[in-house]
Amino acid sequence: MADPTGFLKYTHRELPQRRPVSLRLMDWKEVYEDFDDGTLREQASRCMDCGIPFCHNGCPLGNLIPEWNDLVRRGRWRDAIERLHATNNFPDFTGRLCPAPCEPACVLGINQEPVTIKQIELEVIDHAFDEGFVDPRPPTKLTGKTVAVIGSGPAGLAAAQQLTRAGHSVTVFERADRIGGLLRYGIPEFKMEKRVLDRRLDQMRGEGTEFRPGVNVGVDITADQLRADFDAVILAGGATAWRDLPIPGRDLDGIHQAMEYLPWGNRVQEGDDVLGPDGQPPITANGKKVVIIGGGDTGADCLGTAHRQGASLIHQFEIMPRPPEVRAESTPWPTYPLMYRVSSAHEEGGERVFSVNTEEFVGTDGRVSALKAHEVRMQDGKFVKVDGSEFELEADLVLLAMGFVGPEKAGLLTDLDVNLTERGNVARGADYETSVPGVFVAGDMGRGQSLIVWAIAEGRAAAAGVDRHLMGSTALPAPITPTVAPRQ
Ligand SMILES: Cc1cc2nc3c(=O)[nH]c(=O)nc-3n(C[C@H](O)[C@H](O)[C@H](O)COP(=O)(O)OP(=O)(O)OC[C@H]3O[C@@H](n4cnc5c(N)ncnc54)[C@H](O)[C@@H]3O)c2cc1C
Ligand code: SF4
Repeated sequence: MADPTGFLKYTHRELPQRRPVSLRLMDWKEVYEDFDDGTLREQASRCMDCGIPFCHNGCPLGNLIPEWNDLVRRGRWRDAIERLHATNNFPDFTGRLCPAPCEPACVLGINQEPVTIKQIELEVIDHAFDEGFVDPRPPTKLTGKTVAVIGSGPAGLAAAQQLTRAGHSVTVFERADRIGGLLRYGIPEFKMEKRVLDRRLDQMRGEGTEFRPGVNVGVDITADQLRADFDAVILAGGATAWRDLPIPGRDLDGIHQAMEYLPWGNRVQEGDDVLGPDGQPPITANGKKVVIIGGGDTGADCLGTAHRQGASLIHQFEIMPRPPEVRAESTPWPTYPLMYRVSSAHEEGGERVFSVNTEEFVGTDGRVSALKAHEVRMQDGKFVKVDGSEFELEADLVLLAMGFVGPEKAGLLTDLDVNLTERGNVARGADYETSVPGVFVAGDMGRGQSLIVWAIAEGRAAAAGVDRHLMGSTALPAPITPTVAPRQ
């Protein structure tokens, strides 16, 4: 039972401060200061324990938010992490990285500021690690069944943890040299320090999950071999095919995809030997005039990385118009609001340019030196050029952060001969099974480019599907059924 007057006593939302920009640009550590327990418990007491908790609907995992809010209010940290882990394998990732669709769905948000759900989640899991509440939970007996998980992002990891705990022998294959998917080489250190990922992988190893990095399935192991060696397979390879910008000058040097650029920054933080004689990784913003094309989260990650590498000037282009300062009327409560957001990277500098389209890259001696662009406006659902708005902007590093078009088809998917949806993602039925019996799919590979919270939710649900396929029934929870086209 919540404090019935908490939201009247504590009318304002309080969150930890971000470290001063000048200080945080000198390192790659996470940007937030520590948060005081007393204030956090006051914030937790703002939760009204609603009869119909709309926060549940907002969360793809169905997190039991009012329950752990109240446990935090009472200082019952161990019980709080038990309730949080009941629905979310990795609150350490979502507490840092989730856009928290639960918060704009919070009932308190109708006429006050919503409960600080994400911060409470983060403090619950960080307390739990600090106090030793997070230990390996190996199964009490093994089933003798084997499962291969292809891809070690949040979807693959969530599925692997669920299935290992259910007693199956799980092997996670990853083509990169380290485990973690986009958590490892996409998301920069200043958003989530990799020690957070590593301590979770230690727990999973302790439970018996086997990790095999450096194995490109479809090349190093054939699809046939995989199916012969394992009783079930989960495809969790992500949506790694990026959207390009095929305009004149695209082949000039100095124009890179975000996911060609960001991993180098992460490798430097891992301590890899990737620095040249100039002390910089192969692709760097150091001393450069940078233009980032794409105004989303990936673009913001490029922005924060470029700041830390010492770019001389940064512009971030977005073709869409600048969103409104407050929730747009088209996205009323409890939906996720369209509104202007300032991430920590935006706060650190750079100029954001909205309603702009790039038409050509200009080069000198084979290297990009500028780009030509113009303003756009919407007409009949299409972007049209604003006459006379053309401009040229100097740039010696251009980063394309325009999203991803789906999974890579060549290799594993072609060899397995799985059906695809109209959008080019892997098609699946209600149990996350693909058109090939015994082969399941979870995360961005089936859903298309999405979020960590959805990847975890789908990993859990696909694990339940696999367990049922192997054992005839399952006790594993399945938070969601697929929302995309079923198998053809
Ligand atoms: C730069 C960036 C920043 C982001 N920031 C956020 C954020 O802050 N918050 C948020 O919620 N979401 C964010 N996202 C989206 C989020 O990271 C993804 O939705 C999520 O990681 C998808 O998880 P996944 O497990 O499906 O796939 P991924 O994390 O993409 O992992 C798939 C893995 O499979 C491996 N793989 C693919 N094919 C094979 C094969 N044949 N053999 C072996 N391994 C294979 C890949 O190497 C990869 O490591 C971001 C995305 C990007 C690109
Ligand atoms: S909707 Fe908000 S106030 Fe209501 S239970 Fe959820 S977090 Fe608490």
